[in-house]
Amino acid sequence: MKLPLLVLLSLTFSNVEAQDPAPYYITADHIFDGEVTHEGWAVLVKGNTIISTGPKEKVPMPTNSIKINYSNSTLMPGLIEGHSHLLLYPYNITDWDTQVLKETDSYRTARATVHARNTLMAGFTTARDLGTEGAGYSDVALKRAINEGVIPGPRLMVAGRAIVSTGSYGPKGYDNDMHVMLGAEPADGNALIRVVRDQIGKGADIIKVYADYRWGINNEAMPTFSIEELKLIVETSKSSGRPVVAHSSTIEGMRRSILAGIETIEHGDDGTLEIFQLMKEKNVALCPTLAAGDAIAQYRGWKKGVESEPEKIKRKRESFKAALQSGVTILAGGDVGVFAHGENVRELELMADYGMPVSEVLKSATSVNAKVFHLNNIGLIKEGMLADLLIVSGDPFKNISDLRKTKFVMKDGVVYRN
Ligand SMILES: [Zn+2]
Repeated sequence: MKLPLLVLLSLTFSNVEAQDPAPYYITADHIFDGEVTHEGWAVLVKGNTIISTGPKEKVPMPTNSIKINYSNSTLMPGLIEGHSHLLLYPYNITDWDTQVLKETDSYRTARATVHARNTLMAGFTTARDLGTEGAGYSDVALKRAINEGVIPGPRLMVAGRAIVSTGSYGPKGYDNDMHVMLGAEPADGNALIRVVRDQIGKGADIIKVYADYRWGINNEAMPTFSIEELKLIVETSKSSGRPVVAHSSTIEGMRRSILAGIETIEHGDDGTLEIFQLMKEKNVALCPTLAAGDAIAQYRGWKKGVESEPEKIKRKRESFKAALQSGVTILAGGDVGVFAHGENVRELELMADYGMPVSEVLKSATSVNAKVFHLNNIGLIKEGMLADLLIVSGDPFKNISDLRKTKFVMKDGVVYRN
């Protein structure tokens, strides 16, 4: 009776050995480690971890290793998308109201699985997804399916429904007798405590609030929550260890968000040097979402490259310059979903186009995003970090659009593209 068991056991052990994945020995002409670029370096990956990196002669090459080397290439940490909506797709295909009101959560989730794959294949191995816009907690389910290996996609931090003040958010313009579902969850005053906790309970990693919205007398953006309400949201969320992020484009919405303890401000379109300096002082980061404004202007008829830039784009350029001048931490996040998933690089191209040095743009999309999002095991090519890696043809430091020439994508030690 004992012998078969022993045989079985030894078989099991040898199977485990056989399945032990071969290490990857990866070289490239340039290796950007998330902070600095090196030439003549190599990276050794075992399992899901970077176990060695440095000059080629100092990185041991195990005999059984799988060698990855593309000529004329750059290796870098997997890119981090700072602001996505995987449950949305471009508004020039289907407008936002229709997506929110007429598409079921299940239909939208089916589409989102493709969006997730496209994001990963474009080299974005992580994404902070900031609201399902009416698709409930489908992002929580999407994240689970990705983590379980059911579908390919980036590692996700998700916000769930997001929070808006009563009366401010859309879809709008329907008869008052109609019950119209909203793109986020409304709450005010002390009820915010329950809503924050409920969203956490349902799987939100982040609490997102709309600190202002287009509900002014002339549909202009105006502040929504009072500073006391924002503080209540932050206090409630922080006690669970979750950060709060704010959609805000007005100076007053930004000011309240900063003083309430919000960690990142999304959009910041009307931001001035003074408000960005206050953000820097209070350690609040800016996620400028340049690509969203650029896309929407084109959906409204702007012929980019043919016609001169609309006023809104010119103002955004000015405010981005002020942000650069202030020294505020700038994240890379494009509000992708407004434009096509997989086109995430558009934000990085625009950051460079609007005046940010390319080396800073690449840091934003890797080490800076990781640090601000409290992800201390990604964003750098360094011993002990998770093996999230991207290889592109060419040299993005010379031509940022080379980021589109994806050759190799590894997430958590698993190769998704080669
Ligand atoms: Zn957004």
